[in-house]
Amino acid sequence: MTVQTQIIRDAQKLSEFAHQAQKSGKTIGLVPTMGYLHEGHLSLIRAARQKADVVIVSDFVNPTQFGPTEDYATYPRDEQADLEKCQSCGADVLFIPTVETLYPNGQDSTWVEVSKMGNILCGATRPGHFRGVATVVTKLLWLSRADYAFFGEKDYQQLTILRRMAQDLGCPTKIIGMPLVREADGLAMSSRNVRLTPDQRKQALSLSQGLKAARERFQNGARSVRELTQAAQDIIQAQKDTAIQYISIADPDSLDIFTDTVPEHAIMLLAVKVGAVRLIDNMRLD
Ligand code: AMP
Repeated sequence: MTVQTQIIRDAQKLSEFAHQAQKSGKTIGLVPTMGYLHEGHLSLIRAARQKADVVIVSDFVNPTQFGPTEDYATYPRDEQADLEKCQSCGADVLFIPTVETLYPNGQDSTWVEVSKMGNILCGATRPGHFRGVATVVTKLLWLSRADYAFFGEKDYQQLTILRRMAQDLGCPTKIIGMPLVREADGLAMSSRNVRLTPDQRKQALSLSQGLKAARERFQNGARSVRELTQAAQDIIQAQKDTAIQYISIADPDSLDIFTDTVPEHAIMLLAVKVGAVRLIDNMRLD
C-alpha cells in the first residue's frame, strides 16, 4: 500500500489534525520512533495500519533521553528515506517535530518519571533516560490523541515502563507491544547497527547467541541465575570489542530482577557496548 504521507512539524498542527480525525469518528494509531526506520519500526507501522483508521508515525531524536556523553549528535537520521518507508506502509502522517515545538518551555520543565522501574537495568547505566522517554511519549500521546500506541519488545524495559505509566496516569491510550524483529542472522534490528564496522557487526552477533545459549540451558533445566548469566557472558566476552553493561534475568511483567533462582517465567535482558555502539537485546527464557 502506498499513500501520500503528510509531514507535520509543528506540535499545534498535529494536535489540530488529530482533533479533526477524532471529531470525524476515526481511531488514531501512534508509532513513536527516533527515525532511521528499519523493518522493526515498519512492523509497528503495519500493525497500526491494521488496527487504526489514521496512522501517525513520529520521528524525533529526543534530547532529554540522552546523557551528556551519549550519541545524541551522532544518532543516524534520514528524513527522506523515512518518508518513503512511511508511504509504503500506509502511514497518514509523519510527525517530525523540532525540539522547540515539543519543549516550548525549554528542556527542564515538566517531567514524567516512573521511579523504581526507571532506575534499574538500562536506567542504572543511563540515569534520566526513562524520565526523558516517559516525558516525550506523554507529550506525543496528548498531541496525537492516540487510541493505540505501538512499541517494540526490542526495548522491553521501555515498553514495560510505558505500560505502567499509562496505567498509573489513567491514560486512555492502549499501549500495544510488538515482537522484536531480528536480522536473518539473529542480530536485533536497531538504527544504531549502521554505526558498527563490518567486524563489530560480526561481534555483535554474540548478543543474540549469548541469549540463545542461556535459553537453551534454561530449557534443559538450569535455574541458577549465576549459571544462566555466565552462559551468555562467556559468549559475549569472547569477542574482543565487547563491554557488558549488564546481563540480568527478570520477571517479564514487573521487571523485578532475580538474584538466585529463576522461576518458570523469566526474561533475560542485556546491554553491551560493541566498540562505541551501545546495543540492547532480550529474550524470554521460557
Ligand atoms: P527507536 O527508533 O529505536 O526509538 O524505536 C522506536 C520503536 O521501534 C520502539 O518502540 C522500539 O522498541 C521499536 N523497535 C526498534 N527496533 C525494533 C526491533 N528490532 N523490533 C521491534 N521493534 C523495534
